[in-house]
Amino acid sequence: MAATAVRTYQLYINGEWTDATGGRTFAVHNPATREPIAEVADGGAAEAEAAVRAAHEAFPAWSKRPADERAELLHKTFDLLKARVEEHARILTEENGKPLAESKGEATIGAGFVRWNAEEARRAYGEVVPSPAAGKRVLTFRQPVGVVAAMTPWNFPYSMITRKIAPALAAGCTVVLRPSSATPLVALEIVRAFDDAGFPPGVVNIVTSRSAGEVADVFATSGLVRKITFTGSTEVGKELMAKAAGTVKKVSLELGGHAPMLVFDDADLEAAAQGAIASRFRNAGQTCICTNRLYVQRPLVDRFSARVAELARELKVGNGLDGDTKVGPLIDERGFAKVEDHVRDAVAGGATVLAGGKPAELDGDLRGYFYEPTILANVAADAKILHDETFGPALPIVPFDSEEEAIRLANDTPFGLAAYCFTRDVGRAFRVSEGLDYGIVGVNDPLPTAPQIPFGGYKESGLGRENGSMGIEEFLEVKAVTIGL
Ligand code: NAD
Repeated sequence: MAATAVRTYQLYINGEWTDATGGRTFAVHNPATREPIAEVADGGAAEAEAAVRAAHEAFPAWSKRPADERAELLHKTFDLLKARVEEHARILTEENGKPLAESKGEATIGAGFVRWNAEEARRAYGEVVPSPAAGKRVLTFRQPVGVVAAMTPWNFPYSMITRKIAPALAAGCTVVLRPSSATPLVALEIVRAFDDAGFPPGVVNIVTSRSAGEVADVFATSGLVRKITFTGSTEVGKELMAKAAGTVKKVSLELGGHAPMLVFDDADLEAAAQGAIASRFRNAGQTCICTNRLYVQRPLVDRFSARVAELARELKVGNGLDGDTKVGPLIDERGFAKVEDHVRDAVAGGATVLAGGKPAELDGDLRGYFYEPTILANVAADAKILHDETFGPALPIVPFDSEEEAIRLANDTPFGLAAYCFTRDVGRAFRVSEGLDYGIVGVNDPLPTAPQIPFGGYKESGLGRENGSMGIEEFLEVKAVTIGL
């Protein structure tokens, strides 16, 4: 395969593409080959402050633009993003490693978040409230919160961005964005589309940086920023929440998960097996709503596990740019080491390896961190893989006896992002969905995400919701106005 040319990217602050102070840059690597693919400006606190100032200065005019005009610019951006899906998908695969088909899916849904919020911009209604007194009238206005700082991870480098910045802009907020330094390229291309669509200077700004903490400190402590929206690990989310407390900012957090999937004896077993594979191995298992634990009703566990293992063995591991690849590399050495550790720990505790169980040995010049799709049975209750987010292609299977036990096991975690259940009994579908302490429950559905579906977690998986009709709410304040007649 021909080597990819190394591209260069600048920061985008106040409508200008600019270098970082002193021309500092950092390299971005393709995780499949570990080859450098781009040099990106390395901003720090000074650039973060300049971006916040630009967003602050742009806010009064942007927030006063009629919703129709904001919607129009977002629709224009959607058209540009849609026309660039193929180009963006390739960049996404080059920097993240996921199979090209998944990248196209992410770019398509990610552009869809922009269209959805263009539509929502026109619907941020206030209310006329029944008055408590004859001589008084009461209204509520919905107003944008102010400057929004968005910070995003590497596992969905496109869609995590558009589902934050599109509702913020729709609401009338201005935005400063810092994407993960592992995957800043598609983020920069998204910002280019906003620029091409004609957003005014300062309304959207991006500061790429290797110094996550330095930039986050500016965002979280600046008195000019009124809202932090973050997707990433629970650990970093807690830190940001604590830092944002100093200026009592609004905070939305989309954090880690540890999704259970429950398969009951009345399920469509083939759909459940395919669903478990789709959910666990998408993006090489590096998805916050990936199934981390598969609970199967005891009488079917052997037959069902054998089928899941067979499907896992059929998944082709390789470079995401190759058309038939189903599982790409882990993002980096740390991610790879965590998967190895979880599998080793489970096996040391008595687990049986039904598929995979080791690093993938690939032909050719792929030097990335590839791991075989792995299925484990007989996993001890205290194994790390049953409690800590693996973020990789390994799935433990655990038997259960009753519906109550399944719900108890599923809820036995500090996380509460997504959970899944396969059953054809409609009563059970309702009982289980209501009993699961999770923000998203997919019943006979391994892919419960779309622009119209609210997304967010219970417990330590986060605060607030993205998407759906409430996605824009996170960026609006409510003002009560009372009028004496
Ligand atoms: P991470 O928390 O390490 O990084 C997320 C972002 O925060 C990155 O941009 C990173 O550079 C930055 N960051 C790192 N350290 C920081 C610090 N001290 N202060 C401020 N920012 C810092 O997470 P990750 O490894 O990039 O992403 C994987 C995690 O994200 C997983 O836990 C996954 O479940 C979670 N995630 C959650 C959702 C969701 O919607 N709930 C979606 C995707 C990923």
